[in-house]
Amino acid sequence: MAEIHLLSDEIINKIAAGEVIERPASAVKELIENAIDAGATRIQVQIEQGGKKKIQVTDNGKGMGAADLDLCYLRHTTSKLTNADDLFHLHTNGFRGEAVASIAAVSKLTITSATQEGESGRIIVKGGEVIEKEDIQASRGTTFLVEDLFYNTPVRRTFLGSETSECSRILDIVLKTAISHPEIRFDYKVGDRTVFTGVPGELRSRIAEAIGSKVAKGLLPVDYTEAGVHVTGYISPTTETNGKRNHQFLFMRNRPIENKMVSKAVSQAYEPYGAQCKPVTVLFLDMPDMEFDINVHPAKREVRFANGNLVFLVVTHAIRDTFTKDLEAHSPIIDL
Ligand code: ADP
Ligand code: MG
Repeated sequence: MAEIHLLSDEIINKIAAGEVIERPASAVKELIENAIDAGATRIQVQIEQGGKKKIQVTDNGKGMGAADLDLCYLRHTTSKLTNADDLFHLHTNGFRGEAVASIAAVSKLTITSATQEGESGRIIVKGGEVIEKEDIQASRGTTFLVEDLFYNTPVRRTFLGSETSECSRILDIVLKTAISHPEIRFDYKVGDRTVFTGVPGELRSRIAEAIGSKVAKGLLPVDYTEAGVHVTGYISPTTETNGKRNHQFLFMRNRPIENKMVSKAVSQAYEPYGAQCKPVTVLFLDMPDMEFDINVHPAKREVRFANGNLVFLVVTHAIRDTFTKDLEAHSPIIDL
């Protein structure tokens, strides 16, 4: 008899879920991204006990009818990708069809949704199995209610941080997404307490809502292009660099990312202005499709650049260019 055997669907789903949903903040990230993909102009997030007990994300996006509700929690089901060519022209956050399935596999998930056409319904999935289906009326949009995350994966649960640390990871996700979408209204509550409100507006006012209006006021606008790499955003002037360590935001095509090369470029550019320099930087990168790969791993926020050295240089130049422009704007005009 063969020793090798095919794993059961239940085990396959749990393993896959563990890869996509590492912690409450990953669920929040996926649900907010889905709301954005659904065209929402308002996203409300509410959590309890660092997201371990409850995560609720409500949007006013296009919603799902009964037929879509029956499919959305299954693995590899998506409305965002049809053929392999689409992979290279993606304009949505998601496309793998794994997030909802992963959350559903490791929690009690209640999805309530309604479309513009008035189709609506509710489905409750626990540990990947449908436990209830209701034919209810709802207003347009979708609510995902995630309860008891990791209830059936106790080891994962023990590896979570304290409530405070899970909360701060979730806040980080909310703020990053809010900064990359100043046109969307965001409301974020921990229990009954409102932690963040983002009113639709310009990028600078959204940054002010996220990190404080005093710091945001002094930021310098960045707008620089070199060798096809486009850098925009706002950064601290060299004179005011007392931000917090976590006040460095980086986005690639409007998606929050992390990249060591870019972080290094930022710290090197500020180095001459003091060793204790902690600038606020909000940088948006863009470059031609073939120059980057963002789809390295669903749970990671890494991006791979075809030419990392070039990106490093352009970001350095973009920051220096911004300082120079600021200096020119403030130097007295000498009439010779
Ligand atoms: P993906 O985002 O990769 O398509 P998900 O598992 O995150 O996969 O979601 C599966 C599908 O469920 C989506 O493709 C979409 O059709 C639907 N869906 C998920 N969230 C929402 C939402 N907030 N509003 C409308 N449809 C949604
Ligand atoms: Mg998704």
